[in-house]
Amino acid sequence: MNSANYMEAAEQDLLHTYHRYPIIWESGKGVYLYDTKGGKYLDFAAGIAVCALGYGNEEYNQALKTQVDQLIHTSNLYYNKPIIKAAELVKKASGMDRVFFTNSGTEAIEGAIKAAKKYAYIRDGHTDHEIIAMKNSFHGRSLGALSVTGNRHYQEPFEPLLGGIRFAEFNNLESVISQINEKTCAILFETIQGEGGVYPAKQEFIEGIAALCNEKDILLILDEIQCGMGRSGMMFAWQNYGVKPDIMAVAKALGCGVPVGAFLMTERVAEKSLVPGDHGTTYGGNPFVGAAICKVLEIMEREHITEHVAEVSGYLWDRLEELKAKHTCITDHRGMGLIQGLQMTVPVGEVSKKALQKGLVLITAGTDVIRFVPPLVIEKEHVDEMFGILDKVLSDMEA
Ligand SMILES: *Cc1c(COP(=O)(O)O)cnc(C)c1O
Repeated sequence: MNSANYMEAAEQDLLHTYHRYPIIWESGKGVYLYDTKGGKYLDFAAGIAVCALGYGNEEYNQALKTQVDQLIHTSNLYYNKPIIKAAELVKKASGMDRVFFTNSGTEAIEGAIKAAKKYAYIRDGHTDHEIIAMKNSFHGRSLGALSVTGNRHYQEPFEPLLGGIRFAEFNNLESVISQINEKTCAILFETIQGEGGVYPAKQEFIEGIAALCNEKDILLILDEIQCGMGRSGMMFAWQNYGVKPDIMAVAKALGCGVPVGAFLMTERVAEKSLVPGDHGTTYGGNPFVGAAICKVLEIMEREHITEHVAEVSGYLWDRLEELKAKHTCITDHRGMGLIQGLQMTVPVGEVSKKALQKGLVLITAGTDVIRFVPPLVIEKEHVDEMFGILDKVLSDMEA
């Protein structure tokens, strides 16, 4: 079969829930992807902020191969060594106290919601609590995670969703305050909104919410699924703000391609939250994903990944500022670390398609933003290469 046949087969057989780019990836090396026709592409998407170490990292690959030969899965009815080590490393990186491993980001959000509800139930002796989430947010596609995703278009066909969810304006403290009442048990948001268009939380917003939560015993749940794991220039984005969540969700780069997520909490929450029988998963935290997490965290620490991100992201920032000064179609530049966005007046879907034709992988966010979430191991020369291609794409489109 040639590429066209494969794509035709996919369109016949797979449920049509994605408009895919006409490309079939074959392999990856470093920060480059190769398609089945031999084309080489610079990757500024990292499989949607997943492949933080890039592709073909030999040490990571070897750790997975070794674990495959040793033991892949046993269930959570027993202990396994890799996940015990992974828990220790994630706790150390985050300063959180307890972790539950899931298979995805969505499930991490589900668990976080359940933990918060259980905490409030034990404290108050009754249910019917409310959660405040943000407009323009993204937390996943399952019914629980969709219920806290502030996007009417995603929600509408699936109503009724989870009750007791109120939406406030992100980065507007007054808007959140106006939604708080005696039923509020948690406030949930992405430290840096990703899918919604790359909006970092403002310092006064996150600080104000943390103070409110502390004062009223409301749990602060931060979604670090996209912005966590070093991408912001700190291991977790909230560490840039001097606050700490009560519950946090991670996934994406946690396994660097192995499907795994986690929700973590402080001991104060864990003491009065989920107990045996309240929550579970068959796969979650199996030895295979455990080995991946251990290796990812080991490499990130040894290679000082956060320092690298801080440095190379400053360079990306400067070059994108340069691009913004040059092209009038760019109306805003936002972000932090290696999650940055350019808002544009030209159709961003076209921009990413044309970039792909020139060997650059870019993804969009929101309706009018090009999102830059490259592997964390990119170097300045890759930023320059990206700049060259995107500059040309925008010049062509403006012409
Ligand atoms: C990707 C993402 C999710 C959902 O994670 P999945 O692994 O796709 O289930 C949730 N929240 C944020 C912020 C994300 O970026």
